[in-house]
Parts: sequence; C-alpha cells; structure tokens
Amino acid sequence: MAEDMTGGCACGRVRYSVPIEDDDAYLCHCRMCQRATGSISIAFTTVKQADVKWGHEPDWYDSSPIAQRSYCRECGTSFGFRFKEGSENMDLTVATFDDPSRFKPRHHFGAESMQRAWINTEGLKEIRTDEYQMLIDKWVEVTGSFPG
Ligand SMILES: [Zn+2]
Repeated sequence: MAEDMTGGCACGRVRYSVPIEDDDAYLCHCRMCQRATGSISIAFTTVKQADVKWGHEPDWYDSSPIAQRSYCRECGTSFGFRFKEGSENMDLTVATFDDPSRFKPRHHFGAESMQRAWINTEGLKEIRTDEYQMLIDKWVEVTGSFPG
C-alpha cells in the first residue's frame, strides 16, 4: 500500500507530499546530473508527476532540449528531473524527503561517467557533525544552540 511521504528544500519554501509504493531508488552518475547538483552522483526515486502535491511549487528550468529540472530559487535545492514530453513520471531527489532512510539503491544510471573512487566508501573514517567542535562553537555563538 502506498504511504504518503513528505519532503522539502533546505530553506523550507518548497514542500511536497507524494504517495510512495516501494523503496526503489537509483543513483544517476550522468554528467548533466553531476553539474546540475554539484554532486558526484544524485539519488532519485521515480514518481508520477500528477501524484506530487506541491505545498509551494519549485521553479523549473530547461536543463537540455529534452528535459527540465526543478529547484528552489531561494536556497538552490535540487528537486528533480522530468522529460519535456512523453512521460507521466518525474524523478524526485531522495535526499529532499524528510525521511530518506526507506529508499534503497537498485541500480546505477549514467555508468559511463561514474566516479568509481566514490562508490564503495565503507571503512573510511567516520566523523559526526556533533564531534566537530568548531562547527558546534559557531552555531552556539550565532544562534545559542546546535541544530545537530
Ligand atoms: Zn528553499
């Protein structure tokens, strides 16, 4: 059964709710996604465009002659991708969901530009944000508390 899941951008201006049937997601490594998001790869889940209820619509721009990408014009968060024509679906960025933890990567796309050094990072040193004292000090100095 589909579960309504919510998400939004970094500044909170754009919000959405969408029914999610399964936990399928994928990583896109194509150069256009890398450039558009500034990330080595981008995690997407595919949904029907008509199913997405936007609390406040993101902006869309033509990212190529065949596709558009959505983003928040205030904070720059990337929301997704859709073809201009021929598909009722769109891809939503997994990390904009309020709880991205249910999604699982099922495949890689854009494998020709995959940066393989970043694929298996298991075993690298792990540092939590609340272990980084300079970051904590800056938050406390400016806001009085640490949001982590
Ligand atoms: Zn925003």
